[in-house]
Amino acid sequence: MPVFDHPEFDHHQQIVFGSDEASGLRAIIALHDTTRGPALGGLRIYPYASDAEALTDVLRLSRGMSYKSALADLPLGGGKAVIIADPRRDKTPELLRAMGRLVDSLGGAYITAEDSGTSEADMRHIAEATDHVGGLPRHGQASGDPSPFTAWGVFCALKSAVRHRLGRDDLAGLRVAIQGVGHVGAHLAKHLHEAGARLVLTDVDSAALSRLAEEVGAETVAPEAIADAEVDVFAPCALGAALSADVVERLRARVVCGAANNQLATPEMAERLMARGILYTPDYVANAGGVIEIAWQRRDDYARDDVMAHIEGIGATLDEIFARAERTGQSPATVADDLARERFRPAG
Ligand code: NAD
Repeated sequence: MPVFDHPEFDHHQQIVFGSDEASGLRAIIALHDTTRGPALGGLRIYPYASDAEALTDVLRLSRGMSYKSALADLPLGGGKAVIIADPRRDKTPELLRAMGRLVDSLGGAYITAEDSGTSEADMRHIAEATDHVGGLPRHGQASGDPSPFTAWGVFCALKSAVRHRLGRDDLAGLRVAIQGVGHVGAHLAKHLHEAGARLVLTDVDSAALSRLAEEVGAETVAPEAIADAEVDVFAPCALGAALSADVVERLRARVVCGAANNQLATPEMAERLMARGILYTPDYVANAGGVIEIAWQRRDDYARDDVMAHIEGIGATLDEIFARAERTGQSPATVADDLARERFRPAG
């Protein structure tokens, strides 16, 4: 299995393969960059078809976290961990504690948190073996769930994108299509509803969809029809790769801004969106609210107002990205990547 010649290898600082015979743990932790601080990133548990597939995922995801933390102005680097296992069948307290020991062996260079296949309860088992765990309730909170903070960040990002492309500050009457009304999408829908926007929603979970649609007075459409909705803004809040060539051609919206990770099916989609006059909001900038809150939880001076102000800074970061994109004729995705690299790998 090639590592240094792997297509997703981007001069990652450290890649650790760990196993534990008794619990069946097989895990990889990748530290992409720790220039700005310890590498924070979630732990994904997934039944990867091969070790190679797990390596590809952890290399790609850990690199993404360096970009996200740098543009969110956090004193953190980028890292990620994966366990090769089926979260429904193989996840045991022993497995999680073994993972905690592996995290602990890195002495704080890597801080873990929830990702797909892991929950707050899992983090508690991991925390029995290491202190280097984020995403747990602290500072008197009822839950460590980052999604309300992520949704607030996406809302601030959307306001910046709408100001730049549509020249308006007021969201009243703005038409927004949300793809996926799970943890983040549902909170986003409520913020937009309160701001007076008109919503078109979709989800594969039709019961959850109708409940929310009733609550916020929204129209609903079938999942495959969301790209054709007659709206101003398209907000992908379900899975990655939502912006395929087909979807980009069909979109009626002039702004894309959502919570999903890795929205561009291929990097070229950023140019295609630009060619169609659609303003793309770089996903990792828009969806950084959750990681910002987790970073604040590590501080002794946690204050909710300061956390919210930091998250609202996402809007100012995007103002800078959109302005630079306009000046240079580059896509916002390219500008965001360059700006992030300037922050975590400064020249010299
Ligand atoms: P979630 O699983 O709670 O919600 C996703 C929703 O999308 C579900 O309701 C699901 O039924 C729906 N869905 C799945 N496939 C769909 C399809 N084809 N069409 C329409 N709907 C579909 O997840 P979440 O926590 O809300 O996260 C949403 C996205 O945001 C994910 O891509 C996630 O990686 C990203 N993200 C989340 C956070 C966070 O704080 N939760 C932070 C950063 C990024």
